[in-house]
Amino acid sequence: MARYRNGRIPASQLVWFWALNQYGKRERFRATRATAARLTAFIDDVKTNEGVQLYITSGPNVYRDYGQQVGMRAKYAALGKPLQAAYPGTSSHGGEYRGRDSLAADIYNYDAIPWATFVKYAKKHGLITNFVTPTEYWHIGDPNPFSMPSTGGTGLKLSSRAEKQIASIFDAIFVGGTSMDDDGRSISQSLAEIRTLTSKPIQRDGKDIPVRQDNADTGTIVREIRTLTTTPIKRGDKEVPVRQDNADTGTLVREVLATVKAQKAAIEALAVAKGADPDAIAKAVEDGVKQAMKDVSFTVETD
Ligand SMILES: [Zn+2]
Repeated sequence: MARYRNGRIPASQLVWFWALNQYGKRERFRATRATAARLTAFIDDVKTNEGVQLYITSGPNVYRDYGQQVGMRAKYAALGKPLQAAYPGTSSHGGEYRGRDSLAADIYNYDAIPWATFVKYAKKHGLITNFVTPTEYWHIGDPNPFSMPSTGGTGLKLSSRAEKQIASIFDAIFVGGTSMDDDGRSISQSLAEIRTLTSKPIQRDGKDIPVRQDNADTGTIVREIRTLTTTPIKRGDKEVPVRQDNADTGTLVREVLATVKAQKAAIEALAVAKGADPDAIAKAVEDGVKQAMKDVSFTVETD
């Protein structure tokens, strides 16, 4: 049984991958992750070991969805050769062929190497040749489009999350796929966005500062703050941690405030008892305190 109906593989199962077309141009082709990986490895292997660059035929010539199969059939019918394209819903490019999983690709210059060599490399990468009638030599198939090719058999047992992460990395490097936890955006797209964001200058007091400079400055400030707040404070001959010093200062301020309040109340009570004007006495006390404290400057905030 095939996993999906012909031409109906869900988008979530498909990736775009880059390959060269017959014009020598890079083109994005659509396939399952596994088929993209097999085709890429196959083409790379032939290039490395035979010195021949194989091309994928430009157009929807790896995965071909139902609508594209309709279009292909119409195109060949108009050329008077309707049999050159499969009846819509039956193409081996559609993810299913004769009831089994199948994803085909058209290799434009399959004859650039001897046929036996072509077959040997295809087989090595899990691809089958000459499997449709009438014979189409350029047409190679992946009979396992939903299982990733073995990448060397490490024998490691991985969690499903680790497998997903590895698949994402594989996609990013080899087939330009999508990254996980990222709304299906491609990794290269995410990287491009990060690059754009970090290359925009930051506004600081009306001036544009490069992000890199801002990061450097922030780092310097953070390091300075860390140094300041971890360096003990000298108090007399003793070193006191900053935290302790802050706590002590708070206590001291509260004590001073309580003393001043109490003194003020006492003086006012005394003034009333002696028949004096409490406001005049309070003013005299205030002036005296101000005079005594004129060299001390600190602000005390009360609630
Ligand atoms: Zn084909």
